Amino acid sequence: MRAYGELNREELLAMKQEVEASYEEARGKGLKLDMSRGKPSKKQLDLAEGMLTVISSNEDCMAEDGLDCRNYGGPVGIPEARRFMGDIMGVPMDQVIVCGNASLTIMFDTVSRSFTHGVLGNTPWSKLDRVKFLCPVPGYDRHFGITEYFGVEMINVPMTPEGPDMDLVEKLVAGDESIKGIWCVPKYSNPQGISYSDETVRRFASLKPAAKDFRIFWDNAYCIHHLYEEAEKQDQILNIIEECEKAGNPDMVYEFASTSKVSFAGGGISAVASSKANLEEIKRHMNYQIISHDKINQLRHVKFFRDLEGVKAHMMKHAAIMRPKFETVVSVLEKELGGLGIGSWQMPKGGYFISFDAMPGCARAIVARAKEAGLVMTGAGATYPYGKDPEDSNIRIAPSLPTPEELAVAADIFVLSVKLVSLEKLLE
Ligand code: PLP
Repeated sequence: MRAYGELNREELLAMKQEVEASYEEARGKGLKLDMSRGKPSKKQLDLAEGMLTVISSNEDCMAEDGLDCRNYGGPVGIPEARRFMGDIMGVPMDQVIVCGNASLTIMFDTVSRSFTHGVLGNTPWSKLDRVKFLCPVPGYDRHFGITEYFGVEMINVPMTPEGPDMDLVEKLVAGDESIKGIWCVPKYSNPQGISYSDETVRRFASLKPAAKDFRIFWDNAYCIHHLYEEAEKQDQILNIIEECEKAGNPDMVYEFASTSKVSFAGGGISAVASSKANLEEIKRHMNYQIISHDKINQLRHVKFFRDLEGVKAHMMKHAAIMRPKFETVVSVLEKELGGLGIGSWQMPKGGYFISFDAMPGCARAIVARAKEAGLVMTGAGATYPYGKDPEDSNIRIAPSLPTPEELAVAADIFVLSVKLVSLEKLLE
């Protein structure tokens, strides 16, 4: 396979004609495929069927401390749910608040509270001229959406294979008091599937920010979402809460997690873990916001999964469904694009996405071509703040929703779109 960059103009034109014919053939099939969002497939959702019946009588509704989950009370979550979510994050239960059906809400509320009331006695962010956040890129569009909504100025920080570029993070937070936070997906990151190295986690814990109210938003959304069963094929990261305590920065981090891609997407339970001082502040504000979250949902999660071992075993059932999908996409990419020099990607060991980097200036056109042929992908640029990928290169592939058969077809359409747009670019 010769790299496209080595072909002369005539060869490129001939290649384009060939690819165009295959693309038109695919387009003519009138397909309707969706690889746009990281939604679990029906098969994955079916795995949690038992949760629908695990509470089936009045007697089933009591928490271990005797609280009736059908009634108000237990604003920080029932004890067994706090222990369960704490075990998932590796944090003692008294450092965990279990909330409602989605972790994104807790993240939104955390930013919102910082704007209206400030963080631990510091000036509310709304009273400051400028508030900035660091955004490791490519990253999760909904994180960037929250900070954009509040008018936060977002600064791109490139990802490396070990996590965000820490030289840059350290320099920026030390030198600018208006930098108030950073979005992190430390394990199987969205979209690259990168897990932060021990050094990265330690450097995060030891940050010396100019802003006293700087906070790390540690969204451990994929902490138990391995694709492989073998221990050596599973990433493990250091515990940020412990590392921050050791470094004398216990208040610098909020850790978030949920069971959205464990039980039901948007119907799971969510949690925040942090220092005592931060949790007290969260509780104080929550007191005005809600009387108590859905404890029946908390209880049925614990009854269904039982404990950390139970949920880990459940995640292996997810892995058995997800792994072949990831492998299908990556094998099509390797077979069709390997050696052509028109894109790069990695096979992640967990999470929900595969990140594809096209030749600069090609991502939007590739996504548009795929759409014309019936394949909806995540919008190009979505993995960057303000939807602006400066290189117009990154595309997020979400293989979870289609069936394996659909996925093979979708991957074919994708590689044809990549080839076609790259050839057009090289012929400009
Ligand atoms: N965090 C990350 C990194 C995600 O990728 C997602 C969903 O794709 C979420 C959070 C959403 O979680 P929840 O449903 O708990 O709000």
